[in-house]
Amino acid sequence: MTSTERGIAAAEAHSAHNYHPLPVVVATAEGAWMTDVTGRRYLDLLAGYSALNFGHGNRRLLDAARAQLERVTLTSRAFHHDRFADFCTRLAELCGMELVLPMNTGAEAVETAVKTARKWGYRVKGVPDGRAKIIVADNNFHGRTTTIVSFSTDPEARADFGPYTPGFESVPYGDLAALAAAVDEHTVAVLLEPIQGEAGVLVPPTGYLPGVRKLTRDRDVLFIADEIQSGLGRTGRTFACEHEDVVPDVYVLGKALGGGVVPVSAVVSSREVLGVFAPGEHGSTFGGNPLACAVALEVIAMLRTGEFQQRATELGAHLHHELGPLAGGGAVDAVRGRGLWAGVDINPSRGSGRAVSERLLARGVLVKETHGATIRIAPPLMISKADLDWGLDQLRHVLGV
Ligand SMILES: *Cc1c(COP(=O)(O)O)cnc(C)c1O
Repeated sequence: MTSTERGIAAAEAHSAHNYHPLPVVVATAEGAWMTDVTGRRYLDLLAGYSALNFGHGNRRLLDAARAQLERVTLTSRAFHHDRFADFCTRLAELCGMELVLPMNTGAEAVETAVKTARKWGYRVKGVPDGRAKIIVADNNFHGRTTTIVSFSTDPEARADFGPYTPGFESVPYGDLAALAAAVDEHTVAVLLEPIQGEAGVLVPPTGYLPGVRKLTRDRDVLFIADEIQSGLGRTGRTFACEHEDVVPDVYVLGKALGGGVVPVSAVVSSREVLGVFAPGEHGSTFGGNPLACAVALEVIAMLRTGEFQQRATELGAHLHHELGPLAGGGAVDAVRGRGLWAGVDINPSRGSGRAVSERLLARGVLVKETHGATIRIAPPLMISKADLDWGLDQLRHVLGV
């Protein structure tokens, strides 16, 4: 057995099989590159599902984490700590909002947004108790908790996990008329990804997000944008909503907010909305801990310069310039995306998304398929143009184009 085979067998022996990883065992990583236990290097075109927007081993993030490790890492929210105020102030500023509620994982932040919307509905909008409805979109991905999978339309994510949490209705993504028809007097929120990542990097039709914004404002409904994957530079803007000049009522953030170092998520909104919480009504032992705040503060500082957004814009234009011509040529059915983020639908004649991922692995490129036939390309935003071009050469090679 090779060391890779040993590593995989050992992992499979004592872990639940809720993932099907590619056959590579990573030992170290730096920038856009990962090295496996045999010393072989791979270009990372997944970037931890966009949790690694600033690259592996980012110096600024590691220095911030190291410095904080030596000071204090956890206080719980029973006490104040000296990084908390800065984190909330800076993140609110970055979002152009007023209040921040920190959590850890993305799913927790989505749960927090759901609770926020319901409480806002009862206390501010005046919805009768127990009747609040939240509208979501088909093919959504918002996380894995029992409530969140209750409103998933993906049978794999949902089946066998009932009974399901009521109070959600799903409508086709990108269809404003369907959304308008679903809004009623008990609707408290519309929860959407401005670009659907897990669904295959689906960009809604132009005008959809502004339409959602107008509809929700007119009907006194909160617009909650789950920017956990689309936000923090990935699309060339701090938030994907910005491409259409849309400002939602609530941002849900995660993934890159922790820089790939620690899990950090947050709900960010106005005083009217997040102000509904009183002590004891919501919380998290680790949410807003000093280490998380120190790392996230560095992430926010990096985003404030606009340098990563600029890189995502420029490299993204290049990425789509290179990928676009492949669509319809026999190997690739469609290419979608925005900024340094693309979903590539592989024609079945070239094999499944998994097969293409495995052929790319053999050529030193790491990607992961989504929904069978789609390859997602989302490298760290600091990837060099030469490395990106090399990765695209490997993709063209395995597709035979
Ligand atoms: C990844 C993701 C989540 C869930 O985040 P976790 O940290 O895995 O819980 C929620 N929403 C979107 C859009 C995501 O991409």
